[in-house]
Amino acid sequence: MSEQHFLRITGLKANVGSKEILRGINLEVRSGEVHAIMGPNGSGKSTLSHVLMGKPGYQVTGGSVYLDEIDLLGLPAWKRAQAGLFLVSQYPIEVPGVSLDDALRAAFETTGRSAENLHQEILGEARRLGFPLSLLGRSLNVDFSGGEKKRNEMVQLAVLKPKFAILDEIDSGLDIDALRDVSRRVEQATNEDQLGVLAITHYSRLLKELRPDRVHVLIKGEIVASGGPELAEQLEKTGYAEYGGVEDETEPVGASIFGLPS
Ligand code: ADP
Ligand code: MG
Repeated sequence: MSEQHFLRITGLKANVGSKEILRGINLEVRSGEVHAIMGPNGSGKSTLSHVLMGKPGYQVTGGSVYLDEIDLLGLPAWKRAQAGLFLVSQYPIEVPGVSLDDALRAAFETTGRSAENLHQEILGEARRLGFPLSLLGRSLNVDFSGGEKKRNEMVQLAVLKPKFAILDEIDSGLDIDALRDVSRRVEQATNEDQLGVLAITHYSRLLKELRPDRVHVLIKGEIVASGGPELAEQLEKTGYAEYGGVEDETEPVGASIFGLPS
């Protein structure tokens, strides 16, 4: 049994410009736990992941985020990563000229970890995750398919072994096989490495392999309900309507652009 850590979010409020998006989030994730945050589009899920990771462009107007005794909100993103936080972004960025090997080597060096067996570890994880070995030398995410991007992020996660991972809709754009492999690998990390997970998702299908301990419903920047895994199953059937969430997915893509009625 490895050490126990916590990620404690208290009264977190954040704006984009003058618009309040997060309106007082309270949440605590401990080592080995999986917490799911579910909510309709536009409820603030990605905003929460970005604010936790320290992405520029958001103003925190209240509350605190602690990883153990470390006050994360006072730190730039790279120091939050050093403290043990890892974000699997909804839209992984392309990094021309930097391979997976390069990126992980740099991360190991800044934290003073030995990179001696790094390449072997990367190879092992790539095989375990079905990430094509031929892509290992290529620029990160450049011309990767959706599935390759997520498997690649998962190789990083598995090798880096952060204390906590935030997964922002890793199910979006993934086929069934990739979703199963990726969610299964995260579930294993919660058992093998005591990884704590904040899994942000619109759909409950992610949670078939990645079993949540707690499920929270996020509506308009507030957690309006929390429960066990059964809450995800209930949401699958009833949607978010009973929590006052508006499903905006019925609008045809591009309707507003083309002036079509919606
Ligand atoms: P979700 O991930 O749950 O779909 P987001 O966190 O992406 O929701 O967005 C929450 C709300 O914040 C939405 O109304 C969105 O339009 C708004 N928003 C997010 N980012 C920006 C931004 N950079 N500028 C303006 N509004 C934003
Ligand atoms: Mg989002």
